[in-house]
Amino acid sequence: MKTMEKAEIQQYRWKLESRRQDAVRLLGRLASETRALDVDSPQDTGDQSIGSVAKESLFQQTSQRRRLVQMIEAALRRIADGTYGICVACAGDIPRKRLEALPWTYCCLRCQEIAERELESEPSPQAPRTDIPWKRAG
Ligand SMILES: [Zn+2]
Repeated sequence: MKTMEKAEIQQYRWKLESRRQDAVRLLGRLASETRALDVDSPQDTGDQSIGSVAKESLFQQTSQRRRLVQMIEAALRRIADGTYGICVACAGDIPRKRLEALPWTYCCLRCQEIAERELESEPSPQAPRTDIPWKRAG
């Protein structure tokens, strides 16, 4: 396993911390917008549905940001542990390019694709394939 240069890790940490600040700021704004909607939305008029659509979108944005903050915090913990940049699923190195684009990512692209495919194929009875090549490799 290649270890990352300290200076390089520091860069990712700064990036992660600034993204976390952005996300936390946005969460604060979303929370006050949600509160404003609660106060302003008229209960007995036809506008109610507009209010609930707006609320739903705020709710979605809020949960997305919360998830992002959680992922960023987990990534910062991995930096502290010295496991940052290592895929949690296959223990392989996560390519730098991917870390540049998604510094909070916890797995390599291959493992993410496998996980997404498993999620997608779960409800359908005719899953296209059940053998996972990388699992046999070990
Ligand atoms: Zn992996």
